[in-house]
Amino acid sequence: MKLIDGKAAAAALRAEVKAKVAARLAAGQRAPCLAVVLVGDDPASHVYVRNKVKACAEAGIASIERRLQGTATEADVLAVVHALNADRRVDGILVQLPLPPQCDAARVIAAIAPDKDVDGLTPVSAGRLAHGAPGFIPCTPAGCLKLLDSFHGDLAGAEAVVIGRSVLVGRPMAALLLNRSATVTVAHSKTRDLPQVARRADVLVAAVGQPGLVRRDWVKPGATVIDVGINRVTTLDGSARLVGDVAFDEVAEVAGALTPVPGGVGPMTIACLLDNTLAAAA
Ligand code: NDP
Repeated sequence: MKLIDGKAAAAALRAEVKAKVAARLAAGQRAPCLAVVLVGDDPASHVYVRNKVKACAEAGIASIERRLQGTATEADVLAVVHALNADRRVDGILVQLPLPPQCDAARVIAAIAPDKDVDGLTPVSAGRLAHGAPGFIPCTPAGCLKLLDSFHGDLAGAEAVVIGRSVLVGRPMAALLLNRSATVTVAHSKTRDLPQVARRADVLVAAVGQPGLVRRDWVKPGATVIDVGINRVTTLDGSARLVGDVAFDEVAEVAGALTPVPGGVGPMTIACLLDNTLAAAA
């Protein structure tokens, strides 16, 4: 079994982005700039934003933060997004989710100018992806595809099964695989006999949010398995640890290649955000 080292792949992508940013600067162009909009005090969101801003700095990408109180109205948030859309120094805009309940996240995301949509979450970006047209790809599935390119190879004709149909992961992942001519099945909570559906897969992507859902007998021997899940569980000794949607130890015995959690898909997500921001500036 090949262990898919997402940490190393992400480090390589970040180094590539950094070198391209340095080349831009050497050619007299300005650094790409990412604007991050953060509303409220959700501690996890603050950590995510801090990590993204730090990763930008390490790659030579400028970033600006627009922070709003948790009491901000949807109109307040939309005004910030509109101002960033119009700001020519800003290449990419990211609205950190979740938003407080008084703000409709779908309306706020849809307000981002498509050519600055580095998270790839606007309906325009989703439509471009569905049409197989160029556009921004959501960072997590973009990272999964890069790992598949490196560790699986040609996807044309492969049986691909994606478990999960969220706008953030499952749907764009399925579209990406279809655009690469895989034969794609999208499974979800209403799918009948999920283990049997999963067993068809040469490429199995689990994006569910259920610790250890994918068991050994769900996996075709030799399949490439991408575990997107990030689940915090409490172990018997009372300590917390992160696990994926795949029962790693069992599946490692049958899979041809497998991502660990942590250290698989997770690190690729931020690397792809930097890659998208660089592309937005080009
Ligand atoms: P959502 O909760 O939005 O979607 C989960 C999907 O899984 C839904 O389509 C749901 O089906 C399906 N599902 C739930 N339970 C089952 C089940 N028992 N059998 C089959 N399908 C099921 O989650 P996300 O897509 O946002 O995230 C999925 C996981 O990926 C989470 O663990 C999240 O933390 C992780 N994640 C990791 C990232 C990373 O950087 N590595 C980034 C983003 C997410 P239905 O539509 O029918 O309800």
